[in-house]
Order: sequence, then structure tokens, then C-alpha cells
Amino acid sequence: MEATPTVSFEDTAVAFEYKSDAAMRKANFIFSLVNHPWISAVATGSVKIALWLRLPVEPLIRTMVFDHFCGGESIDKSDAVVGLLGKYGVNTILDYSVEGAKSEEGFDHAMEEILHTIEKAHHSGNIPFSVFKITGLASAELLEKVQRKAELNEAERTAFERVRYRMDRICKQGHAYKIPVLLDAEETWIQDVIDSLAYELMARYNTEQAIVWNTYQLYRTESLKNLKEAFHVAAMHNYFLGAKLVRGAYLEKERKRAEDMGYPSPIHPDKGATDKAFNQALTFCIDNKQRISVMCGSHNEYSNHFLTVLMEKHSMKNSDRRVWFAQLYGMSDNISFSLAKAGYCVAKYVPYGPVRSVLPYLLRRAAENTSVAGQSSRELMLIKKEIKRRKTSL
Ligand SMILES: Cc1cc2nc3c(=O)[nH]c(=O)nc-3n(C[C@H](O)[C@H](O)[C@H](O)COP(=O)(O)OP(=O)(O)OC[C@H]3O[C@@H](n4cnc5c(N)ncnc54)[C@H](O)[C@@H]3O)c2cc1C
Repeated sequence: MEATPTVSFEDTAVAFEYKSDAAMRKANFIFSLVNHPWISAVATGSVKIALWLRLPVEPLIRTMVFDHFCGGESIDKSDAVVGLLGKYGVNTILDYSVEGAKSEEGFDHAMEEILHTIEKAHHSGNIPFSVFKITGLASAELLEKVQRKAELNEAERTAFERVRYRMDRICKQGHAYKIPVLLDAEETWIQDVIDSLAYELMARYNTEQAIVWNTYQLYRTESLKNLKEAFHVAAMHNYFLGAKLVRGAYLEKERKRAEDMGYPSPIHPDKGATDKAFNQALTFCIDNKQRISVMCGSHNEYSNHFLTVLMEKHSMKNSDRRVWFAQLYGMSDNISFSLAKAGYCVAKYVPYGPVRSVLPYLLRRAAENTSVAGQSSRELMLIKKEIKRRKTSL
């Protein structure tokens, strides 16, 4: 299907209306920096060394990049960003991005924090979802062992029961407050465990609406099939399927592991195949909208356009709450704000946490914007266009 755009992503006045001139200059600085691979490499390398040496880099990071990509250092300190985005019809998904202590206490603490985000969402009109990563609640080694069906010792069995308990508590709270919970997707060697826990929770909490949402990484050759199977199981057991669609964030790691361990890569051979699968997945979800609620987690303009066209073909209202568009805070505002202005349901993942703890997240954004072909320069081009527009419209 040819996607004839109904919303333009070119209007930078709409995209950046919420940003002051100073914030635009900062955005220009950040994206100019990461756009150059070698400058980006030197900058991120220096931050890593400074961290290792325990140098006090927080004030510098806070001034330079933190505010652009993060909501604040805590849930409450993110209020201003939640309110500001909300003014333009853009919702917030508070993302606790602390890659903290990998201990039972650390996992319990992360669970409590996610419960707080649900509580916050319950009292806010601008936070329609909560989200978590299972590796914030469980040890990756344990999950990998469970996926391999290796025998667990007593301590591991107890630890896995705690993982189930944490996930259930979060989803139960989401169900009680009617705040859907997104389960982020991670690496293939732990993803089967995430999937099966997600479906168990869906069967329990999705009988009236999609409360538990699983994530499908369409760069995986299996994902479209998995999505279709999940739909059939949901239909058979009469519950709703919540599906967040993304392309996938661990491409290099997945390919490298497959090569090192000598198994076929689980990733599509090229970008075109991933794009095709992604758009087919969108089509499948809209074709089955009576049972599937879908979130398009993407900065890809074509896919976002494509979804608006699908909705129109199915005579769906722009504001239909079974369909969500989501981007990361600090990126692709041209997509988020234009869609929100046209009345679509839009949300931004807004990471929060102490500066030092969210640094790994910020370093990944730098790497992503350096290596993803075209994306950073598109971002930079839009920022420059808006700065120029503001100057000439004075
Ligand atoms: C709201 C939101 C939530 C997200 N949640 C998750 C999550 O839970 N789990 C997760 O893994 N990621 C998640 N991501 C990240 C996502 O998977 C992508 O890495 C990122 O969004 C870039 O893809 P794109 O669709 O935005 O854009 P594009 O720039 O169009 O696509 C880039 C993506 O295409 C794929 N790709 C690139 N080159 C190739 C190639 N040669 N062969 C095959 N495929 C290729 C990769 O997945 C790459 O990331 C999320 C992103 C957003 C916006």
C-alpha cells in the first residue's frame, strides 16, 4: 500500500513550538556534536573515562545534554516536562532509566519505583502508560538460564519466583488503576522468557482491555510470526493483545553473538526487510483492531505516515485510543508534535533518574544518533531550519 501522507512532518514551527531559543541552541549543539562520528566517539569516550575515574562530571552533563533527553532526576522533578508536553497534546511515559544495582534489593527498589510511576500516572491526565525493562527486575543471567531450560538451584528458583511476583505486582497495579504497562523487548536469548511471562500476565489482566503490552522487534525474522501467534492465542483465550512495535535496538550485539556462537542470525539480512516486516506488522494490528491495541514505537517517518493512512482506510478516528504513536523525548519532535496537533494519540518515553545513573542511556542515544544512517542529520537539519525560521520571522 502506498502511504499518502495526511500529516506533514516538515513544519518545524509546530515541532519545536515548546522549545525556547536557548533550548533550540542547545539541541543544535548536541546534534551537531553527535553527527560527527569522531567527535562523538571522543566525547563519549571522555565521559566514560571520567566516570571510571569518578570525576564529578554530573554538572557538565546536566547542563549539556541531560535536560534535552531526560525529564528530571526523579518522578516529581519531571513534572515540568510532563506538563509542558501535555500542553501540546503530547503524553508522557515515565521511563525509570536507572541501570542500577543487580541485586534482589536493587530489583525490589526498581519495582517500587515503577509502582510509583503508575501511582503518578493515575493522578495525571498526561501519563497514559507505564513501562519497565525486565532486566531492571531480574538478573539477565538467571533469565538466560531459564530460557535455556537449565536446571535452577534452590536460590535461583526462589529468585525467579520473585521476578514473577514483581511483574505481577506491577501489572496488578496497572490493572487496578487502568494504566497499561509496556514490557520493553530485550535480547533474543532472554526474550522467550519475557514473552511467556507477558502472555501469562495478559491472560490475567487483559480481559476487559489491553493492560499488559508486549514488545515486538521487527528486525527479528521471527517477530511477525510471533505477533500473529500471540493474536491467535489471545483470541482463543478471549483476552486483548497489547502490542508495541519497534524495529529493535540490539542489532550489532545480536549479529555478533550469532556469529561468535555459530548459529544463524535472528535478524533480517537488511534494513529493507526490517522495514517491510514493520509495516506488515502495523497492517496486521490494524486489520485486527477489535482485539489488538498497537503502539508504533518509531522515529521512522514513513512508518508513522503509513499508520495514519491505515487508520484512515479503516475509518478510524485520529483519536482512537487503540492506536498510539511513540517517540523518545529529545528526538523526532517533528513526528510527535505534528501527530498530536492532528489529534492522534502520541506519547514520548521520558527517561528520568539521577544524572550519573542515566548516563548509559545518554551514551546510547549518542551512539544511536551517530550510527543510524540519516537520522541524526535529519534531526539536525530540522533544528537548523527552525533556528533560521525564528531569526527571519523576527
Ligand atoms: C517509544 C520507543 C520505544 C522503544 N522500545 C524499544 C524496546 O522495547 N526494545 C527495543 O529493542 N528497542 C526499542 N526501541 C528502539 C527501537 O527498536 C529502534 O532501535 C529505534 O527506534 C530506531 O528505529 P526506528 O524505527 O525509529 O527508525 P529507523 O531509523 O527507520 O530504523 C533503524 C532500525 O532499523 C533496524 N536496522 C537498521 N539497519 C538494519 C540492517 N542492516 N538490517 C536489519 N535491520 C536494520 C534496526 O532495528 C535499527 O535500530 C524503542 C523506540 C521507541 C521510539
